[in-house]
Parts: sequence; C-alpha cells; structure tokens
Amino acid sequence: MTKKIAVLPGDGIGHEVTAEAVKVLERLRRDFGLKVTMDSAPVGGTAYDVYHHPLPASTLALAKQADAVLLGAVGGYKWDTLPRELRPEKALLALRSELQLFANLRPAILYPQLASASTLRADIVAGLDLLIVRELTGDIYFGEPRGTRTLANGEREGFNTMKYAEHEVERVARVAFIAARKRNKKVCSVDKANVLEASGLWREVVIRVAEDFQDVELSHMYVDNAAMQLVKAPKQFDVIVTGNIFGDILSDEASMLTGSIGMLPSASLDAQNKGMYEPIHGSAPDIAGKNCANPIATILSVAMMLRYTLGEPMLAERIERAVSKVLDQGLRTADIYTEGMTKVGTKEMGDAITQGLM
Ligand code: NAD
Repeated sequence: MTKKIAVLPGDGIGHEVTAEAVKVLERLRRDFGLKVTMDSAPVGGTAYDVYHHPLPASTLALAKQADAVLLGAVGGYKWDTLPRELRPEKALLALRSELQLFANLRPAILYPQLASASTLRADIVAGLDLLIVRELTGDIYFGEPRGTRTLANGEREGFNTMKYAEHEVERVARVAFIAARKRNKKVCSVDKANVLEASGLWREVVIRVAEDFQDVELSHMYVDNAAMQLVKAPKQFDVIVTGNIFGDILSDEASMLTGSIGMLPSASLDAQNKGMYEPIHGSAPDIAGKNCANPIATILSVAMMLRYTLGEPMLAERIERAVSKVLDQGLRTADIYTEGMTKVGTKEMGDAITQGLM
C-alpha cells in the first residue's frame, strides 16, 4: 500500500537538508520499489510569513493525514521577537502534542570513520551505537499543579510536579523493548527510584512490561550514575528508556559523545508507530543558504522512518550503508571535516549518498 509522507522543511538549513533527504526518497521510489507519496507544507517562521501562524491549519491537516512526517528545522533571528505563541518553535510543540507523539527515539551512533570528531578518546566511542527512548508528553514538564506562589513570609516559590501514570510508562517501555528486539536486546531503564515516588512506580511498571519481553535483558540505573556511565563506558548501553526530563538531559549528553550535531537523526512516535522524523539540530541561521550544512542527520532520519513507520528495514539499511560508504570515500561537510579528507557541500553530499544507494 502506498504510504503518505508530509515533508515540512521549515526554516534556515531545514530547506537545504530536507531537499537532500527527499532526493534519497525519490531514488528509493524510482529504483528500489518504495511506495510513497510526498507532499510539502510550510512550518515555522516560513509559515508565519505567509499565514501569520507557525503551524497553519493546512499544514497540521497534512501532517495528521500522513503516515509519517519529515521535518527539517524551525527558527531564526527574524522571528525571535514575535510573541511566544507565534514563534516558530511553538509549531514543533504543537505538532508533537496534536499527533500524540509520546516516544522520542534518539540514536547516538558514531561512525568509526568519525571517531576523531568526538571529544572523548576514540577507543571509548568508536563504533558507539546506542538508542535513547525518551518519554515526551508527561513528567515534570507537563505535571500540574505548577506555577509560582507567595509564601506566608512574603518569599516567592516556584514549583512543578513530577508525575507518571502507569499507562504512560507502559506504552513508552513497550516502544523501548520492541526497539531493543531489533537491536542487541538490552534495555536499561533510567530513573531516580531511590528518592522519587514517581520513579518507584516507573520502575515497577517497566519490570511488569519486561515480562512480555523475556528475550530482552532489562537493567536499571539511577540517572546520576547513567550520566557518569555515558561518558565513562557508553558502549555498555544498547537501549536506554527514561522519562521526559532525564531523557532531555541524557540524550543531549549522548549526542555530544559523537561530536557532530549534523549526523544525528531522531524519531517521535505515537501508539500506532506513526512518526515525525527530524534531525536533532536546529535551523542553523549562521550557515543557512551557504550549501555547507550536513544533510546526513536528515537522511538518517529517513532511514529511521523506513524502519519504524514504513516497515522497510532493508531500505533503511541501504541508506545507512550508503552513508558509511561516502564517509569511507573521505567525503566530509565542513562540520565533520578533518585534514586530508575531501570537503563537499550539502548538495554534493546528498548526491553522493543518493548515488551510493545501489
Ligand atoms: P542549531 O542546531 O541550529 O545550531 C548550533 C550550531 O551547530 C551552529 O553553529 C550551526 O551552524 C551548527 N549546525 C547545526 N546543524 C548543522 C548541520 N546540519 N551541519 C553543520 N552544522 C550544523 O542550534 P541554535 O543555533 O541554538 O538554534 C538556531 C535556531 O534553531 C533557533 O531559532 C532555535 O530555536 C532553533 N532550533 C530548532 C530546533 C528544531 O527545529 N528541532 C532544534 C534546536 C534549535
């Protein structure tokens, strides 16, 4: 059956990197039997300029009708002074909540060819391939009550509420176990169960879900230790599953192990595996329009889309092999360039990967 992809390039380098990802999809459609339709719509500042809203109703409708959304990035200096609810970044939050994308998957992969790009020693990170599954719609970021109040002594106090209902933990844990089955069959659940009741319940539910996944090994780690282990011995991890706030912090830490923001894809999934796929980087206004952004994060996001939503794991591997091949050939965009390599632009990198798909 033909699947629908909504392409939302967004702002800045979002346009440039999604154009290369679309090139890859078109080649897969033409030569490798991928059955998809692609429709584009504006989002972020680009949408605001035309519709006076960062997420116009027509864009939201397209995203809702699609099986998968490919998003570039949003934001830019031009829109920084708009009221908060009209800023480009608001569109992202609205898309996540409208599409009920509760599970955020962020792989941190370090291609051996790029080991010198990391700030950690090559032997610690070369070949790193871990996946963080972060709960995205609950926890202290959304818990009520929240706010600021004035105490009896006149001092002001800010407060938020960390909470997780069982069904919220259960559904994200399932995503993690299913993902682990497609990888090295290990899940590490990260919490702070020694101090927080919300974490205690989190751990209980994860253990319960694990009973349905006897072939996957489950371990638990406190978040402070996990932060330490990620820089000490990151290759011990396969899949990490954790709540929204811990995942926010740990996934940024993990992405930096690889040293290059231009290489890392992400997926946000709903209960039916419908997903929004995007690079982890932003719209990089400092380099926009210069044909020097690295399109690999977005192209690898397409590989995730093929694996998690479109049910085409072989095509996903085809893309990943093509990326590895161009790195072997020594092609590098400026962000991952080291001496002796061949520096190429966004389009040239996209072309080389598209050609390397065979
Ligand atoms: P950024 O990720 O856009 O850029 C950070 C640095 O990394 C910049 O020096 C940039 O040139 C570089 N960089 C980013 N992507 C690159 C790529 N593919 N190739 C080469 N270099 C790359 O973060 P920022 O500068 O903090 O934010 C810029 C804008 O993007 C802001 O408006 C911010 O709100 C927005 N933003 C959007 C998203 C998103 O759409 N998901 C995420 C983060 C930031």
